[in-house]
Amino acid sequence: MSARKESDGTPPVITTCGAMLAWARGARAAGRSIGFVPTMGALHEGHLGLVRASRAACDCTVVSIFVNPTQFGPREDFSRYPRTLAEDLQLLAPLGMDAVFAPEVAEMYGDGLGAQVDPPSIALPLEGECRPGHFRGVCTVVLKLFQIVPADRAYFGHKDYQQAKVIERMTADFNVPTQIEICPTVRDADGLAMSSRNRYLSAAEREKALGISRALRAARKKVEQGERNAISLAKEMRAELNRAGIDQIEYASVRDANTLVEVETVAGPAIALIACRVGATRLIDNERLK
Ligand code: AMP
Repeated sequence: MSARKESDGTPPVITTCGAMLAWARGARAAGRSIGFVPTMGALHEGHLGLVRASRAACDCTVVSIFVNPTQFGPREDFSRYPRTLAEDLQLLAPLGMDAVFAPEVAEMYGDGLGAQVDPPSIALPLEGECRPGHFRGVCTVVLKLFQIVPADRAYFGHKDYQQAKVIERMTADFNVPTQIEICPTVRDADGLAMSSRNRYLSAAEREKALGISRALRAARKKVEQGERNAISLAKEMRAELNRAGIDQIEYASVRDANTLVEVETVAGPAIALIACRVGATRLIDNERLK
């Protein structure tokens, strides 16, 4: 294992849990704070925003790249999920971060199913309903990663808002001494939230997908104009999605931003969340309303 940059400037890649933990312990022993950015790779500006936030606040930054099989359902896109490690390392090179943890599945899970995390109740609605077992897989892998990379801070995106809240709650419940930081959603200039899955979209589907951010913006505008009825806001979002040609809507919902419980009236902190399919691609996005 080397903590030195490769000659082409790309960060050193660590592939075993033991070497990663030893590296992190070394950094801590040297009095350096650690920022950690867990990803599934196919990196884009959304991920790089998390890395920059970590770089700004921590002495060293570790990015993990691991397509975690246990968070994908049997009919989901695990096998075709983009794996682009060489390009990812090139994207990370100019950011001057310290190490990439990129284990194989066998390194993380050994010879089969072990202990798993029972997720907190904030994991039950929305993604929890649409993707049974998803948050069990997410919580389990993130808790494992937090043991392997004992970080001071870990960075997650607002784009996967429920995931960030689930992890926030899980780390509190398990007394994990890592501070969870939630960073803003990074969007393309046309409003589409960046996602590794956007590369599945054809040009026509990408155009359709713009309906998602339009629907969320429409809801926020309505709230700014005084609308408080959550059902009207949800209807407005569905209408906007339909206008864009999106009819496979899994949810378009207004929730309490802290608990993700459905609200009737937008009074306190509220968030609008959408999950839908554009062609075969499942996309999610959200927007704070208040
Ligand atoms: P993923 O590789 O999709 O598992 O995402 C890794 C992390 O990057 C998660 O915390 C995501 O929420 C975050 N992320 C993904 N897309 C974006 C985005 N467009 N803006 C901000 N964060 C993002």
